[in-house]
Amino acid sequence: MNRQVPDRDRISISLKTSSVTTFHRSSNTIWSFDRAGRPLGHFYQGHTFRRTLDNRWFEKSRKMYQGETFRTVIPIDSAPILSRLAALQSNLDHRDTYDTAEVQNTINRIGRLTPESLEADGQSFRNLYSPIGILPPDQYRALVIQISEGCHYNRCTFCSLYQDIPFRIKTMDEIEAHALAIKSFFGKGLSYRNSIFLGDANALITPMNVLVPAIKQIRGVFPEITTFTAFMDVFTGYKKNSRDFTALFKLGLKRPETIVFGN
Ligand code: SF4
Repeated sequence: MNRQVPDRDRISISLKTSSVTTFHRSSNTIWSFDRAGRPLGHFYQGHTFRRTLDNRWFEKSRKMYQGETFRTVIPIDSAPILSRLAALQSNLDHRDTYDTAEVQNTINRIGRLTPESLEADGQSFRNLYSPIGILPPDQYRALVIQISEGCHYNRCTFCSLYQDIPFRIKTMDEIEAHALAIKSFFGKGLSYRNSIFLGDANALITPMNVLVPAIKQIRGVFPEITTFTAFMDVFTGYKKNSRDFTALFKLGLKRPETIVFGN
């Protein structure tokens, strides 16, 4: 802690189980990071920005239009954000937090971030996953595990999310390798993930003799995350019986997201 720096120029650091937040009062700047030091979001003078895991930045805001409020999410140039990140890094010694080893480790990780390391991190994410088309809004903090790719139905006329991705269910070896690679990628940042989302668009079509061992295997890799969700179309719902759903519920499946077709 540097006592020569005025209070308003010090960085306040809040360390939580799932994330780290820094606050610089004089510039009204907030950063949030996961526990691996990976930037999650940034607040600067009234503007809110989010980083995606593939290393793109978006500005989130609310706009009024004809008396109604709409949420907007707009892709932005990351250069101004990265220069503010560099400013944070150069001020990290001016913090008013009494250090623990945990704070120090996290600060060190944040201090080592560079535009190149963030891009490499985004590339690692892209190597881990085929494109993730969509998630339910309450699953944005979920850990996605793609036990299948694409959409088994893939015929809704309004939807092009998986048109170019042939549907397939992964083998058990592929699922295990995928889960272990995800665990290695997120590292300490796993504490930010509060459930597991089984991808892609209709993972519950997977036959029970593959789905049950796959979920058990995933639970073995991520014992700290006990809740699962997945999309499910109505036809798949009919293919599974109440015994199947009871078994999946006992394994942690809390809510299949049912899709009602609109084609
Ligand atoms: S079931 Fe979902 S992902 Fe598949 S085509 Fe229809 S809307 Fe798209």
